[in-house]
Amino acid sequence: YQAKSTGSGVRLYDQGLDVSARERARVADELHRVWDSGDPSGFEVFYQPQVSLADGTASGVEALVRWRHPERGLLGPGAFLDVLEEEGLMGHLTTHVLARATADLQRWHAAGHEELSVSVNLSTSCLLNPDLLPHLQGLARSGFPVGHLVLEVTETALMQDGEASLALCHALRREGFGLSIDDYGTGYSSLAYLSDLPATELKVDRSFTSRLLSDAGVRAIVAATVDLGHRLGLRVVAEGAEDEATLDVLAGFGCDEVQGFVHARPMPADDLFGWLEAARGRSTGQPPRAGLRVEA
Ligand code: C2E
Ligand code: MG
Ligand code: MG
Ligand code: MG
Repeated sequence: YQAKSTGSGVRLYDQGLDVSARERARVADELHRVWDSGDPSGFEVFYQPQVSLADGTASGVEALVRWRHPERGLLGPGAFLDVLEEEGLMGHLTTHVLARATADLQRWHAAGHEELSVSVNLSTSCLLNPDLLPHLQGLARSGFPVGHLVLEVTETALMQDGEASLALCHALRREGFGLSIDDYGTGYSSLAYLSDLPATELKVDRSFTSRLLSDAGVRAIVAATVDLGHRLGLRVVAEGAEDEATLDVLAGFGCDEVQGFVHARPMPADDLFGWLEAARGRSTGQPPRAGLRVEA
């Protein structure tokens, strides 16, 4: 193996690029083979509860995909989602996740958790995919309780083709689906755009939630964001709370829901059902969290 004339540092750098390019190509190849095989069951949908700060009940769950890789074990979205998007396979994944999530939700409804809603993430290419709206309209016609499916979109994804995305969002709302602005505050956060969006929910990004205790500036931003969301008539969910002290701050700001490791990590559907049953027991008769109605 010959080092390049420009020096070993450069050679190592090139090698690194080779490895990651090869690795990416391998993942792309494997992803294509999964979808060509017609059996996407290796893509498992995990669920993370969203817990009401007022009464501790779980009002919803977010569907988060994992890939049970035959050799590498359970992979998080960071390991394959970008490649999937670049390879034009995101539409297939979304169809699969929507099918699983809506079927699981209907089972949970049938088992007595009728209040529960499920949130599904939509990527940029999903928003621009002309098949998405007819697909969801079909779901609505099939009698699915549309108000219990929340579609999560990021500001960044919405910006790719603002007019088309906005039109799609309006169409989804007309069908009765929920619409959540995910990772709020990490994109352009255009206030003009926010007022045009027919959203039902706003999610405060984890990068803010995780710094609530240590950073007064972040506290000001989150307090203002909760207030802004409420004035726009939106339900406000904070993502990524990992401890009780953070919950207390969020409760003080009047935040509605929390989705974070403090309550539960994303888990398989069967575990989630067990968690829901246990949470129903825990929340009975619990007083609201102190500080709930404190002004920001
Ligand atoms: P997201 O939609 O913002 O989802 C929240 C992420 O924060 C999840 O990561 C979740 O596990 C993580 N999280 C929640 N609470 C905590 C906490 O307290 N501490 C920490 N450290 N993390 C927390 P995950 O599952 O790795 O998903 C990452 C991203 O991948 C998601 O971010 C979403 O953008 C994307 N994604 C996941 N599933 C899908 C899918 O089915 N379709 C699409 N298009 N994107 C997906
Ligand atoms: Mg999300
Ligand atoms: Mg998010
Ligand atoms: Mg996030």
